[in-house]
Amino acid sequence: MNTEKSKNMYEKAKTLIPGGVNSPVRAIKPYPFYTKSAKGSKITDIDGNQYIDYCMAYGPNILGHAHPMVREAIIEQVEKGLIYGTPSVLEVKLAEKINSFYPSIEKMRFVSTGSEATMSSIRLARGFTGKDKIVKIEGGFHGAHDAVLVKAGSGATTHGEPNSPGIPSDVTKNTLQCPFNDAEAFIDLVDNNKDEIAAVIMEPVMGNMGPILPRREFLSAVRSVTQENDILLIFDEVITGCRLALGGAQDYYEIKPDLTTLGKIVGGGMPIGVFGGRSEILDLISPEGPVYQAGTFSGHPVTMAAGLATLNYIEKHEVCRTLNDRGISFRKALSDIAAEKKNTYSVVGVSSMFGVFFGDTPMNYQDALKCDTVSFNKYFKDMLKSGIFVPPSQFETNFLSLAHSTEDFDKTIEAFDSCLE
Ligand SMILES: *Cc1c(COP(=O)(O)O)cnc(C)c1O
Repeated sequence: MNTEKSKNMYEKAKTLIPGGVNSPVRAIKPYPFYTKSAKGSKITDIDGNQYIDYCMAYGPNILGHAHPMVREAIIEQVEKGLIYGTPSVLEVKLAEKINSFYPSIEKMRFVSTGSEATMSSIRLARGFTGKDKIVKIEGGFHGAHDAVLVKAGSGATTHGEPNSPGIPSDVTKNTLQCPFNDAEAFIDLVDNNKDEIAAVIMEPVMGNMGPILPRREFLSAVRSVTQENDILLIFDEVITGCRLALGGAQDYYEIKPDLTTLGKIVGGGMPIGVFGGRSEILDLISPEGPVYQAGTFSGHPVTMAAGLATLNYIEKHEVCRTLNDRGISFRKALSDIAAEKKNTYSVVGVSSMFGVFFGDTPMNYQDALKCDTVSFNKYFKDMLKSGIFVPPSQFETNFLSLAHSTEDFDKTIEAFDSCLE
């Protein structure tokens, strides 16, 4: 496989961009491939190699790359102008759609990234409760802002920097940590910080340590303990939203949070974040209330058009259900292969999310860190050579899209079998 052009481009990029990339997860060693184009389930690099893509831009592309419907919606909007700085009808329509999927989201604000959504929801929770501390789950990733870059998953863990320098200890001291799936630890944490915790922010399915599934009792315990202690429960559904179900993980697991953050899928491939919840809480946002939040690109018309086209499509064609079924049979096929090998591999996932752990099935961050990342990296490279692009880290999630065909699956299963050997 010739990747000469990517290699050279990366050399140049490193002289201009730190680490040669604009987001750390993309810094594949020794160099990443540079993408020329992507369509459906396939991504093509500048040397002309084509891969079946399970990275899927880390989540947004539930319909596959460049779905014709979404493309059309974007072009139609571009003809009418790019950005106005005034309200547009599209943002009301998208809000209405999201509200119809998520009964817990009575009101919402659109922002430009998932990071902005989690940052704003934390500020709002603090404003609403009048308390400063927040709890996050170890290994949870909520974007790259100060309050949540403590034991953060995703690229932060991959590159060994779950706690970032540059964040004042005055900020991190207000971010408490709890292991995933450990209700007792959570109850103790709340007891030890009585009347000081504003909110708990968590991914209901951890997507940034590879996928780690919740125990239902853990989710229920967190819900009841937060309710009893005047703590807001924030579900970060930037990955799971409109994927596990139209109504996200909160619908799938039947747990109603106070606030929700969305992103990725709901922008249809354009930059987006959403935070929302009960009206009583959202009414604290400026100009209705005193909690300030603003953005030049918030509710961007092109994003709204792409998001609306995507959500309409997945609703009409029951895409979540289709992908959930395909996810079950695909994971079964991978599990069967993994079970035959002499090393321990665990194929884990839910819905259209999956991951292959080089070790036992993890239930939390500490478990996930025990996995054999050296062997994983070899597996990643071997898969790539076989024409399959999986996320380049043990701590990321693979995604199925509607565009993945039976042929793609067969080819992947075959490659998986030989790469695990
Ligand atoms: C990707 C992600 C974010 C951050 O979203 P950006 O758009 O990258 O800022 C936040 N939370 C979760 C769970 C994510 O997976």
